Amino acid sequence: MSNRTFTMIKPDATRKGHTGAILQMINEAGFRIAAMKMTTLSKEKAGAFYAVHSERPFYGELVEFMSSGPITAAILEKENAVDDFRKLIGSTNPADAADGTIRKLFAASIGENAVHGSDSSENAILEGDFFFSKLEQF
Ligand code: ATP
Ligand code: MG
Repeated sequence: MSNRTFTMIKPDATRKGHTGAILQMINEAGFRIAAMKMTTLSKEKAGAFYAVHSERPFYGELVEFMSSGPITAAILEKENAVDDFRKLIGSTNPADAADGTIRKLFAASIGENAVHGSDSSENAILEGDFFFSKLEQF
């Protein structure tokens, strides 16, 4: 059971002004913010972050989209953080996401799906370290 996960509020949700509402849902679900910053990913950085998907047909589109505007990156802490956060955000495709989830409420499509959530504890640590130095993780 992991107690930390990593998230990004993606460029679509940032553009639509949903950052505050999403952070409120994260807080109300019981997550503590252990690190947070608003920043823009270069194409190189977006490509590196999603390198695991580099052979997938949507990789180019994903890198374009993720570097298209500001994101908010954060490390979140809670018991069972990875699984509980994946439940809070809902399915990758918002059409399949459960009612009340962040993607159901704020995502437009499988590509522009409002938020990222780590898929494992190991990846949560790698992804958090990608954005934050140890001194920036509280
Ligand atoms: P994330 O890693 O962003 O939290 P996820 O774990 O739900 O999302 P992944 O399979 O890891 O989904 O895909 C990473 C991202 O790639 C998705 O969030 C989405 O933005 C994009 N993506 C995935 N599948 C598709 C697809 N079929 N078409 C377009 N974009 C896609
Ligand atoms: Mg993923």
